[in-house]
Amino acid sequence: MTVYLVGAGPGDPDLLTVKAARLLGRADVVVHDRLIDPRVLELVRPGAERIDVGKRPGWSATQSSINELLVTLGSGVGSDRTIVRLKGGDPFLFGRGGEEAAALEAARVEYSVVPGLSSSLAGPVVAGIPVTHRGLSASVTVVAGHREGHAQTDWRALARVGGTIVVLMGVEHRAEIAVELIEGGMTPTTPVAVIERATWDSQRTLRTTLGNLSNVDVMAPAIIVMGPVADLSLGGSLMDLLPAESLQ
Ligand code: SAH
Repeated sequence: MTVYLVGAGPGDPDLLTVKAARLLGRADVVVHDRLIDPRVLELVRPGAERIDVGKRPGWSATQSSINELLVTLGSGVGSDRTIVRLKGGDPFLFGRGGEEAAALEAARVEYSVVPGLSSSLAGPVVAGIPVTHRGLSASVTVVAGHREGHAQTDWRALARVGGTIVVLMGVEHRAEIAVELIEGGMTPTTPVAVIERATWDSQRTLRTTLGNLSNVDVMAPAIIVMGPVADLSLGGSLMDLLPAESLQ
């Protein structure tokens, strides 16, 4: 019995790794978050048990109960069963995948981690934004903007780093984040792009500036890209014109 902590990528099933697609096709149990594109779940082997542990209004599985569930599934009888823990993007980037791996390790359950394409890098690409670009940005910082991440980050120091800033989970606190970055020295005219539901059918990109970020209507999940590259829009049209089958 092996538990696979698998990155599902940003949404589009064509952006799964070959390994992830293979594991979904032979899984006996799939434990997944709410933020998994339904098209990815269609690749799960028919007959496999699916367990949704995603947080939703009024109910959420605690991280410790998810850890326990994985340990229980991984310790069960039937040595050839495949347990897939499917996580959005990459399992080790803000997905608490590290905690799940540590829990399995502590319980001596055999497990393996399968990297995924993170929304922090793939999201900007599908919006036509290279996160680094000669002459515009020589670095990229990926940072969490949710309650805990927001409080832990020294935004004023980050403002002085330069380059591109990619904020995940930043929709709710975008106003405070923008204020702190401006106080730290970034100009209010710094370009900002917000990519909602990147690679999903409902993907939407909004362009604004740091000074105006709090005024745009944004819906989570979204990636916020800040810096001169956020003005670019490269390469999207060719991809849009090619039907998926012609890429094979
Ligand atoms: N492990 C994930 C990130 C988990 S944190 C990864 O590597 O992508 C969850 C946050 O990721 C969301 O709040 C949002 O900011 C971002 N996110 C994940 N998938 C996204 C998508 N398809 N479109 C936009 N944002 C996404």
